[in-house]
Amino acid sequence: MQKTSRRLISVFVLMALLVSITPVIAQAAQNTQPGKDRAVFIHYKNGTVKPASPGKGGLAAKDYVFLAKGAKWKTLPVNYVIDPDNANGLSDVFITNAVSMAAEEWDRYTGTELFGSYTIDRNATWDDQMQDGRNEILFGSYPDQKVIAITVVWGWFSGPAQTRQITEMDVLFNNYYTWGDATVDPSKMDLQNIATHEIGHGAGLGDLYYTTSVDETMYGYSHEGETKKRDLFTGDIAGIRALYGN
Ligand SMILES: [Zn+2]
Repeated sequence: MQKTSRRLISVFVLMALLVSITPVIAQAAQNTQPGKDRAVFIHYKNGTVKPASPGKGGLAAKDYVFLAKGAKWKTLPVNYVIDPDNANGLSDVFITNAVSMAAEEWDRYTGTELFGSYTIDRNATWDDQMQDGRNEILFGSYPDQKVIAITVVWGWFSGPAQTRQITEMDVLFNNYYTWGDATVDPSKMDLQNIATHEIGHGAGLGDLYYTTSVDETMYGYSHEGETKKRDLFTGDIAGIRALYGN
């Protein structure tokens, strides 16, 4: 735990420096993963960071953005691991239902069988230093209370578009928050809502920060009680179809 925590702190410090250019795409450390890239997406609570204005950071004012143009899964379906521990008492069934419904929401709009099955593993790891080939979704403490969740996506994100691909996604939900079903209790951070957003990064989509994007699942901010990211909006649907077909 201590080790994970130090690692998360160092990631946070790096990301804090680069917060204006989300998504942050950095070369993986050469000694661990030669030739592989990673993107880290930090999901903040509303109002903590100023939205980037359209045009800045290379972002165009459109309804979806790619993680890295052409970077998508090529080995399908994407199976994943859920670790239901460290969620402040939420049941395994609640967590696996919320996360799998989030994954299926993306599948609903593309003819490709994108996300497959999950397994429960209580020793999942959030791999920001070196990928381990497992797509892991877990809860843990994160040193910044304004961060709701953080997703790291590994793959090849440079070079010709057709050679790019995603090879791993890991999602960490910050257990500083009380997670649950916000349709029942709006004081909760809605797990399905945030999971749908984070899994969208895992599929190859980036964050949107425009005032015109507030209804999109890939809009970059959330808060307790929010559930509208559970359902894909027009830009999300256009984005997932651009990557994986109708
Ligand atoms: Zn995001």
